[in-house]
Amino acid sequence: MTDNPTNTTADATANTHAPAAADLNEHPRGAAPGKPGDRAAFSFETITRLPDAADGKGKGGARYGRTGIIHTPHGDIHTPAFVPVGTQAAMKAVLPESMRDLGAQCLLANAFHLFERPGEDVLDAAGGLAKFMNWHGPTFTDSGGFQVMSLGVGFKKTLAMDVTGMKSDDIIAEGKERLAWVDEDGVTFKSPLNGDEHRFSAEISMGIQHKIGADIMFAFDELTTLMNTRSYQEESVERTYRWAQRCVAEHQRLTEARLGKPYQALYGVVQGANYEDLRRHAAEQIASLDFDGVGIGGAIEKRIIGETCAWICDAMPENRPRHVLGIASVDDIFACVENGGDTFDCVAPARCARNGAIFTRQGRYNIKRAQHKFDFGPLEEGCDCYTCAHYSRAYVDHLLRAHEFTGFTLATIHNERFFVKLLDDIRASIDGGYFEEFRDESLAHFYGK
Ligand SMILES: [Zn+2]
Repeated sequence: MTDNPTNTTADATANTHAPAAADLNEHPRGAAPGKPGDRAAFSFETITRLPDAADGKGKGGARYGRTGIIHTPHGDIHTPAFVPVGTQAAMKAVLPESMRDLGAQCLLANAFHLFERPGEDVLDAAGGLAKFMNWHGPTFTDSGGFQVMSLGVGFKKTLAMDVTGMKSDDIIAEGKERLAWVDEDGVTFKSPLNGDEHRFSAEISMGIQHKIGADIMFAFDELTTLMNTRSYQEESVERTYRWAQRCVAEHQRLTEARLGKPYQALYGVVQGANYEDLRRHAAEQIASLDFDGVGIGGAIEKRIIGETCAWICDAMPENRPRHVLGIASVDDIFACVENGGDTFDCVAPARCARNGAIFTRQGRYNIKRAQHKFDFGPLEEGCDCYTCAHYSRAYVDHLLRAHEFTGFTLATIHNERFFVKLLDDIRASIDGGYFEEFRDESLAHFYGK
């Protein structure tokens, strides 16, 4: 049905002697009994770079958008790539087999949620995240920082938020009890599951993420919002840098100590909100440390999302892959790809699907509107996903109204395929030299401009 990314020519050429993808859970690349993971099993190679342009947002008109391949112990990721989010080591209502069938190359799970349930020791004993959830491919975990911090500020993660209202460092969403407190060493928080008090720090996050065993992990950072004051943002960037240094040291110690495990790559996270000088400063700090890649995180104003990526890429070595954390929308994806983003995670396709919001090239619509009740066409004309090949709008509408789990399944498969294919098509447009045309046409169709 869809291209299997592990069967493309580039992959076959690069890994002629590598075991088949299905064997990488049993024999990950770069893992040998009694030895630390071989760091050479993780690398990034650039395939095509977007040419510099008069309106390029990087230094001297540089444009950092590119295609490439991230090699990991559990397989390759052809970039730019979409990273579906399976928070608790599961895609809600969709099997990993279906995610592979719809073309997903990798998945991201949440260190904080897995720490709470079932506990990182279970994943370690299972042989790591990928094997535990029967996912044959690369995996990511985020550090848990965002989830822990969001207990404190009461805000949902928003990458592209509007700046409104006054600034304050101590905003709690109305009706919410504060559950997290930041200090120099880490964060103390109360579990939303059972109210137990826990500590998270750089070392604790690294310990948890090593046991979870994803191919790509993120350093523990302090998340701020656009509501925080400038002086707090400055403090936070420096604190995140000190935590980043501790993460690198602990990560190196654990890599040496945990023998026989595949190498896990560590990305440093650049904060700095919407301040150019702070973002550049934070990017230089993170670039100076021995990270394998970079996470572009925190609150960013939508209007400068492309610029923010470019400021960070100005400081970053070319061979470090760049992940944009928690992307929100189609136009943000284009802006971030053009300015250097390689991978993008997003909860929207699954979350929207469960509410009946369906993504198509012509924009989003809600399938639960009355006009779809007798509509026996596919969710999207021309879509190659399993749902559109076999089921109608009327049926999916019925299932969602009846709260049938298969409704979630079918709608999620379509929406995840939409984003996976969007990034696949963007990748092809960069390699084919028609990125600008594809971007303009896609945005015009999606937003009806
Ligand atoms: Zn579809």
